[in-house]
Amino acid sequence: FRTNSAGLADVKERTLIAVKPDGVQRRLVGQIIRRFEQRGFKLVGLKMLQVSEGLLAQHYCQLTQKPFYSSLVEYMTSGPVVVMVWEGHNVVQSSRVMVGATNPAAAPAGTVRGDFSLHVSRNVVHASDSLEGAQREIQLWFQGKELVEWDCWDQTLTCEK
Ligand code: GDP
Ligand code: MG
Repeated sequence: FRTNSAGLADVKERTLIAVKPDGVQRRLVGQIIRRFEQRGFKLVGLKMLQVSEGLLAQHYCQLTQKPFYSSLVEYMTSGPVVVMVWEGHNVVQSSRVMVGATNPAAAPAGTVRGDFSLHVSRNVVHASDSLEGAQREIQLWFQGKELVEWDCWDQTLTCEK
């Protein structure tokens, strides 16, 4: 349970979630957004784009030397992606749980990957894996002015503060 310096739940935490090209083609965008909404997270950024190889190389900078990197590039540039920033208590860790293991064979039913995918090369969705990673990825994909600060009327029903 992460709290801020005042000892209150940190609801400002943000993460980057992307629906990958297979998820967009398979019309899964709505279902994926719905899961984050119903959990109680707040959408603060959303856009659709065709990813460039340059952006991808920065996004996946730790993977460029992997043997599967060229097939990952082919996959991720095969069509548009929908990229989002979600905010809320413990959102980085909780969304990794909601998304499921990288290899869908190890992702339990009830997770996005466990419900909608079969193979690691077509695993439908991206979620940042740490607070630092989330911060880096949000800065990479979004300009500050594209992120919207807004008050969600039910915030006190889903979190203490
Ligand atoms: P994630 O954080 O769970 O998405 O997993 P990673 O950061 O380790 O890998 C990034 C993405 O690369 C994964 O979501 C997959 O789309 C892809 N990937 C990872 N491992 C493999 C692999 O062994 N083969 C292929 N084809 N793609 C992989
Ligand atoms: Mg990753």
